[in-house]
Amino acid sequence: MNDVKNENLYELLSSRFPVDPAAPCLILPDGDEVSYAGLEREAARYANLLAVLGVRPGDRVAVQVEKTPQAIFLYLGCLRAGAVFLPMNTAYQRHEIGHFLGDATPRLFVCRPEIRGLADELAAKAGVAHVLELDSNGRGSLAEAAATQADFFATIARKADDLAVILYTSGTTGRSKGAMLSHGNLSANARVLHRYWGFRPGDVLLHMLPIFHAHGLLVAIHCALMNGSPIFFEPRFDAGRALALLPRATVFMGVPTYYVRLLAEDAFDRGLCANMRLFISGSAPLLKETFDDFRTRSGHTILERYGMTEGGMFTSNPYAGERRGGTVGFPLPGTEIRIVEENDAPVTGGGVGQLLVKGPQVFVGYWRMPEKTAEEFTGDGFFRTGDMGQWDSDGYITIIGRSKDLVITGGLNVYPKEIEEMIDGLPGVLESAVFGLSDPDFGEALTAVVVRRKNAAGGDVTEAGIVAALRGNLANFKIPKQVFLVEDLPRNAMGKVQKNVLRQQFG
Ligand code: AMP
Repeated sequence: MNDVKNENLYELLSSRFPVDPAAPCLILPDGDEVSYAGLEREAARYANLLAVLGVRPGDRVAVQVEKTPQAIFLYLGCLRAGAVFLPMNTAYQRHEIGHFLGDATPRLFVCRPEIRGLADELAAKAGVAHVLELDSNGRGSLAEAAATQADFFATIARKADDLAVILYTSGTTGRSKGAMLSHGNLSANARVLHRYWGFRPGDVLLHMLPIFHAHGLLVAIHCALMNGSPIFFEPRFDAGRALALLPRATVFMGVPTYYVRLLAEDAFDRGLCANMRLFISGSAPLLKETFDDFRTRSGHTILERYGMTEGGMFTSNPYAGERRGGTVGFPLPGTEIRIVEENDAPVTGGGVGQLLVKGPQVFVGYWRMPEKTAEEFTGDGFFRTGDMGQWDSDGYITIIGRSKDLVITGGLNVYPKEIEEMIDGLPGVLESAVFGLSDPDFGEALTAVVVRRKNAAGGDVTEAGIVAALRGNLANFKIPKQVFLVEDLPRNAMGKVQKNVLRQQFG
């Protein structure tokens, strides 16, 4: 009866692994290597461990760990075991972790040893059966338990619409949404990107992105595995390390901030990039100025693409044709984009509207939020991205801004409402508005404007006091870079706070 095709993403990825078992997969900063055969064996050990822990196909595995090879083994082990991998930003604190565990009800939570006490407390509250540890050197109870498992595992059969990953969008308090990505979604995007970006024998990926986000995990890692390529697997972006490794790499993927940082290095020049084939940028807008400077200094034209947690990549500048700075290129093959007015009618004459997207990579929906999911799709199956954009006469798309009020700082997303709610809850605070101000380093710098309660008990509200109160509760990138105290907030006739006025006033 088993002639049904196994649509598990791992089957697709491993079908592309090199035949030579010694071919390197992960090349670590100390020179150690994990071969492709080693990767398969480790993924099998982790999959076996999950089975021993009672993780069944469809069960969630929440993971908040540093970037190590073992985190990749765990990801692939989850795919093989049919479990749903749920990575979390390592910057997340009590408030955020508690929400994700409570919402996703994972069977296993893998945490860093530093937060073991907190992890146990939150896991107990959420009814999570197991908590295991993985440290920044790839050691801990998870790795120890995996080491004793058999290194063979028959990958569990999955259908295209079975879930593989849940990625939480950086949402507002209590409403952060888990984007459900299926094996079919991830396989479709991996196939298209691998082909569209011209991956070929001999490619070597320089990987400096975090792996708790779609960009680093689902775009970069999948492309390299689909190509059976070696990956320089670095724990984080570091300009000095990038200069040292670029001469041995052919492909680099980064957020715009990385490109700004590379340009700030005097030693960055054409010679260092002579072996490179492709630089790709995304997750936030790349300034035209950075695009131009990079071309002058390196001789390479950055390929900018656009996508989001809810489906990976949607558009890309062409590999072979003209890559246009300030644009995100064309819809990827198999992807349809519509740019519409508020009534969903297509905009005419190159006007600005909201981008809608449809394609095999577009996510299944938001975890346990059927109404929200239904709202975000049109009747004919297009997803409302919340991004505003326009076509130019040659069909290139430009992203103009975000209708959903998102701030992107250093490539990371912040929804102002979450921070506003926390500030408003502080003693002596009446209300607040949080927004992004254009910043050469971060893209946008998070800024808060706060109104004090008149005659409030509870002491003085100060700028520094507000920042101090947020620390420890929220990830560092969500702490405003500047706080201003004001008498009142500007509002429009409908009572909405006019953030555009605030941006002008404080920008
Ligand atoms: P995330 O879900 O974290 O990947 O963030 C997705 C959002 O980042 C999108 O909805 C866009 O607003 C923004 N974004 C991603 N890529 C680009 C790009 N190349 N240019 C402008 N904005 C982008």
